[in-house]
Amino acid sequence: MLPSLVALGLAGVVAAASPSQLPRKSLAVHVIHRCLPTANCPPMRIVTRMKDETERIWLSLDVQIAWIDSIDAGTEAHPAGLTVMLEEFDPPWPAERGFLLAELHQPASACDWGLARVWVRQIRRHVASVRREGHPFTTLPTALADTLLGRALGRALAHEIGHYLIGTAEHAAHGLMRARFAPQELLADAIQPLYCLSSHERAALMSCRTDRHADRMVVDETSSSPPADRKSRAADRE
Ligand SMILES: [Zn+2]
Repeated sequence: MLPSLVALGLAGVVAAASPSQLPRKSLAVHVIHRCLPTANCPPMRIVTRMKDETERIWLSLDVQIAWIDSIDAGTEAHPAGLTVMLEEFDPPWPAERGFLLAELHQPASACDWGLARVWVRQIRRHVASVRREGHPFTTLPTALADTLLGRALGRALAHEIGHYLIGTAEHAAHGLMRARFAPQELLADAIQPLYCLSSHERAALMSCRTDRHADRMVVDETSSSPPADRKSRAADRE
């Protein structure tokens, strides 16, 4: 779960997040945009920015996001993964507690699909509280406003993916799994100190919720092991 934190001012050294190496794991994610025709829904370019932001954060943590188009095809190819609902209505959440940006429903069994809900209206309100050099969000150029909304959606989703992959609703004091994100952070790239995982969180990532594609490729392409041995290695992934 990720409520918003309205805070002005953000100190920190800006450094681009970059992948440290080829990701060893991938996570299947299926996005469903539940949008009524009459609603003011984010256009596809914003959804693409959301995906880019989520992907960038998790790539820096050595997890590749595999976006899938169909849940039916996805469950055949991936025993576990995350379905994401982009919701265009407000959650049952008291206004005095701030904005609820997103939440995660853990699967009933450990290695099954999870469900995340991203509350788009709440995220719009979170983004609308950004100030740039003292100027309100409504005065920002459209391109920058799009960037901020895409980042906010992507970071909220990245946080919920963390809940899914770690398998807990608990929060950390720092990094991606903080309980609250401040709107002003959206003005900068997703820098490592703010969007990293601790070594403890990295160690807790549930392997049965990801596909270890990179490992499988190495076995398939370079191993001279007999087929029976390859099969046992594949079983090790589960
Ligand atoms: Zn959370």
